[in-house]
Order: sequence, then C-alpha cells, then structure tokens
Amino acid sequence: MTIGSFPFRYLGVPLHSRKLFYTECKPLIAKVVARVKTWTVRKLSYADRAQLIRSVLQGIQAYWCQIFLLPKKVLREIQTTLRSFLWTGMDTNSRKSPISWDYMCNKKVCGGLNFKEIITWNKAAIAKHFWALALKQDRLWIKWLHVYYIKQADVWTAAIPNRLSWAIKKILEARHLLIDLTTCNQFVYHNKFSIRKCYWFLRGEQPKVEWRRITCNSKASPKAIFITWMMLHGRLNIKTRLYQWGVVKDKHCPICNTADETLEHLFFTCDYSKAIWSRCLQLINVNITSDLATIISTVAKHSRKKHRHHQLLNMLFIECVYHIWIQRNRKVFDDQFLPPLQVIRQIVFAVACRCDCDVTQLIL
Ligand SMILES: [Zn+2]
Repeated sequence: MTIGSFPFRYLGVPLHSRKLFYTECKPLIAKVVARVKTWTVRKLSYADRAQLIRSVLQGIQAYWCQIFLLPKKVLREIQTTLRSFLWTGMDTNSRKSPISWDYMCNKKVCGGLNFKEIITWNKAAIAKHFWALALKQDRLWIKWLHVYYIKQADVWTAAIPNRLSWAIKKILEARHLLIDLTTCNQFVYHNKFSIRKCYWFLRGEQPKVEWRRITCNSKASPKAIFITWMMLHGRLNIKTRLYQWGVVKDKHCPICNTADETLEHLFFTCDYSKAIWSRCLQLINVNITSDLATIISTVAKHSRKKHRHHQLLNMLFIECVYHIWIQRNRKVFDDQFLPPLQVIRQIVFAVACRCDCDVTQLIL
C-alpha cells in the first residue's frame, strides 16, 4: 500500500485541510461551464434556463459547498456564468442584467426567483459542521477535535487555537453566524440541521411584493410567468425605457404608432391589446378597466382565491401579457404580427391546455 499526499480527490472534490486555491476549484467552474455549453446550442426560454440554474447548476455548487468553504472568487465566477446563461443563453457575456442576481436570489413571494445566493449558502453549510461539533455528534473528526483541542472547553466561547488547520478554524468561526444554541435550534428539524433554514436566517427578512399571488403557484406556462414577472418589475425593454438610455430615437408604440410605448399602453390601452384583453375578460364575465397599478392589484386579489374563475383570470392575464409581448417583438424585429383574433385563440388554447377539464369548459 502506498502512502498518498494531500490534496487528493474524493467524488471529484479536492480534499485538503488548508484553504483551497482558486486553481484547485477550477474543476467546479469547468463542470458548470460544460453543462451551460451543452445547453446553449438548444433554444431555451428564460423560464427553461431559470429552471436549469435552480435544479442542476446550483445543485453542483451546493454539493461542493457542503464540504468546505470555497474561495469567493470561484463562487463569483460561477455566479457570472449563471447570470450570463440566464439572460443571454451563452456561457460568457458581459451584458448587464435587467434584475440583479442578489434580488433574484430572494424568495418568489419577495419578488425573486428563488436562486441560491451561493456565498451565503456556503456559510450556512459550514455552520452545519459547527452545529455537529457543538452537539458532539458521533463522528471521528468531531471526537478527535474534542479530545485533542477543545477538551473540556465550551465550543461557543473557547478561544480558537492557532495551531488548528484553516478548515477547522473556519468551522469554529462559524459560531458567530449561529449566535447561540437557542438561535441554532430554530434551524433543527427532526434532529437534523437544515442548511436551508439557516441560509434564510442569514439572508435576513425581505419584504413581500404585493403582486406575489400572480406569479406564485400560477398554472400558466412558466415562460409566460417569467415575462409577466419581468413586466411586474418594470424591466421589459419597452421603447420608453430604451429611449431614456438613448438606445432608440423614438418612443412610439410599434403596433399602433399613436402613443408612447409604456407598460400600460402596450399591454392594456393600445387598441390592439385592448381588443385582446377585453375579449379575455368577456370569456369569464369580469370587467376591469383601470390604470396599470389597479389592474395588477385586482388580478393579484383574484389570484389569492381558489375558485376556478379566479384561477382563469390569473392565467388569462399572464398569457395575455406574454402573447402581446411576443407579437410586439415580432412587429419590432420582423415587421409583422398576428391580428387580435388569432392571438386570442392562442391565449385560450394555452390556458385550456393547462386547466382541468371543468375549468376549460368555461372558456371554450
Ligand atoms: Zn399602441
């Protein structure tokens, strides 16, 4: 049997007791970039890419993060790759995000996309190791630390010995994140430490957005929900926004060319969108004629209720915003768009496909 040396790899992760260098974490960055590259050749919507980031890419990081504290430079580089992938579908790009990454890491009820803010997640994962140490769990490394270094001292208050390795010091330093045992107990569920609960504690309370019911738990298509989410944040690149930045020279609505292209005009007061929106409302016998803020708050109020009429209003609103946005873009980039009647058919079809049979009968 030959004697090996540090660092060696275990399940693809380099193991070392000292601080990991940037170069040692390159395989993690390479893994994320390799995944992104295989997906960039496919035509994915924003919602598809957001789902891939949440489920696959952040899963790779979370696995590494649960083992040791990663250099911030590595985590920031991965974050940049994910951000570019979300907004451009490419692995490298310097385009600015319409919405900051930190904001997108908020819970959906707080206006975010529920992405993991991986630097804080990494801290929460390390805090879990400290919790195991404080509880003297039956593990070899914990027993060894207690016997040789901590002895009879209190892990919450004892001075951290200088001779400890970098990794162990970081685990002990995590005690200031957990504050004390009482605070720590709120992260424990069925005798297991929840990194997720600790993560949300470290992120702090975020204010909830008023329109959260529109996008949370909606049955509309994810790609339509994503565009509506951007509209609700006022971050769609409509002409009045681009005009402010000096990107375009006129701010007229590309469809009717008679008024400025604001969110209210584009989605609700333009003759084109009014024909679509009012027909959708007629289908469920609802009448909402007001300004943008009132329409949004009315739809949000309806979205809270579970009755099928309210569910339909929510879906019709989201699909309306999405289909009007698609036609608007077709007009801007291809100089053509479908007449309102055809768009209404597409909206009704999109809603009917995602509804229960009894709900579908209400609009067909
Ligand atoms: Zn117009």
